[in-house]
Amino acid sequence: MMVPVRCFTCGKVIGEHWEEFKARAASKEGDEDPAAVLDDLGLDRHCCRRMFVSHQDLVDVVSPYQ
Ligand SMILES: [Zn+2]
Repeated sequence: MMVPVRCFTCGKVIGEHWEEFKARAASKEGDEDPAAVLDDLGLDRHCCRRMFVSHQDLVDVVSPYQ
């Protein structure tokens, strides 16, 4: 689905960084190391980092069925 606005564990606002993370690290070519991008975005805690690393964008796949 959509990336959560806040980290489930600590509540830090993370949703604003998703588009940049996807563009820089989650592309198929993999221009940058995802860990370096997360450091650059200021996501230091592993609870926030797992939100991005484990996220799968399914909103466009699922939305026609709602
Ligand atoms: Zn967190």
